[in-house]
Amino acid sequence: MKITDPYLSGILEQVCERNPCQPEFQQAVAEVLSTLSPVIHRRPELREMGVIERLVEPERIITFRVSWTDDKNKVQVNRGFRVQFNSAIGPYKGGLRFHPSVNASIIKFLGFEQIFKNSLTGLPIGGAKGGADFDPKGKSEWEIMRFCQSFMTELSRHIGADTDIPAGDIGVGSREVGYLYGQYHRVRNEVTGAITGKGQSYGGSHVRPEATGYGLCYFTEEMLGGIGESFDGKRVVISGAGNVAVFSHEKATELGAKVVAMSDSSGYIVDEDGVQLDIVREIKEKKRGRISEYAERVRGSVYVPDSAGIWNVPCDIALPCATQNELGLLSAKELVKNGCMCVAEGANMPCTPDAMDYFLENGVLYGPAKAANAGGVATSALEMAQNSMRYTWKFSKVDARLRDIMVNIYKNATAAAEEYGTPGNLVVGANIAGFNKVADAMLSHGISY
Ligand code: NDP
Repeated sequence: MKITDPYLSGILEQVCERNPCQPEFQQAVAEVLSTLSPVIHRRPELREMGVIERLVEPERIITFRVSWTDDKNKVQVNRGFRVQFNSAIGPYKGGLRFHPSVNASIIKFLGFEQIFKNSLTGLPIGGAKGGADFDPKGKSEWEIMRFCQSFMTELSRHIGADTDIPAGDIGVGSREVGYLYGQYHRVRNEVTGAITGKGQSYGGSHVRPEATGYGLCYFTEEMLGGIGESFDGKRVVISGAGNVAVFSHEKATELGAKVVAMSDSSGYIVDEDGVQLDIVREIKEKKRGRISEYAERVRGSVYVPDSAGIWNVPCDIALPCATQNELGLLSAKELVKNGCMCVAEGANMPCTPDAMDYFLENGVLYGPAKAANAGGVATSALEMAQNSMRYTWKFSKVDARLRDIMVNIYKNATAAAEEYGTPGNLVVGANIAGFNKVADAMLSHGISY
């Protein structure tokens, strides 16, 4: 991942100067710029019109205080964020993350990635991301509700069904979306699709909970199909045990694979008989417990208290579905040594740049997050469409659309990689295919935009 073009490396230098102490944001920009040199040479108007200089600067950043009271009536203060990065092709769209690590760098990296991902879906949605440095772990139901209500009281001024439509992410699942939407509804006196990932009873779409994991597997199936392979009979390792990981397990298993390991932020479990998804879900979703409990309940399985070690478990297919930079160079080497043929990213930016380079250099099929995990936001856009129509599509219809979208993303990324001289490189292909559409819209809108 090197930037050889002096114009693009100059832009990166400026980004680093203007956004000091924001390593994740700098990393995400560097990754995209490292692939854009062939486009810049073919399309000189992009440079003349300063498209990339404009693209790396968020349209708007909102930071706000979130104060709430805990169960002991003590006042707590968190910091909320919404980065409305780019609305050239549609209203801002991107999830909310509640995690103690949340800061401006992480939200900006996620918002920047979201621009290209949303463009790749083929749907008219711009890029955004938000969240708070709030840790839902160990909080009571009442505390979660009060936090969500306070967070939304401020956020509701900045979002809306035609301007900015948040969704879930790490730490924001169906429970949190329910509280957030309830507060939005109350303070704006509006029943619109201003948030996605809603429950079925109040405007949610079928397949939205499953969408990122299912979409990841549909995309991976296309990648494997390209070399005459499939999920059937393969050993799969999935990091994380949250929304994306759980539904990746479900679909990969349905497609004939055996998932032998999963993890949480404390450690990982290995079950050579195949990880039993119902037990994982009971532990993580119902009890909000630790994955170590799996090994206490399932004979023959083991628990290792080192989440990063999961990549030492031999597998054919690795699906990192936990968090950013969770898979580094040493893990990449271990995966390649053990015969892993395919890595597809369910999480956002889970592989470090050197790990990504190592996979590409060693002929591993590599599906970058922007393309591989776009199924979640694509289905969110389908939820928005249903909300606008005041109508609900059947599960099978949404699932079929999701599958079509993932197949198209694969085709478009593959075609762009080929057109720009790097056949088979989906990192380049996804970045360029996503970028070109946004760049065209920005050119059409003129410079003040
Ligand atoms: P969840 O909060 O539902 O789950 C996150 C899971 O990852 C938890 O099991 C958590 O464990 C685990 N985890 C966190 N850090 C680590 C770590 N260092 N090593 C191993 N496991 C870890 O989040 P989601 O499943 O929604 O999101 C996961 C990733 O997918 C994120 O990168 C997100 O941005 C991305 N994504 C999500 C989409 C969605 O629709 N939800 C859409 C597109 C991308 P613990 O319980 O210990 O915290």
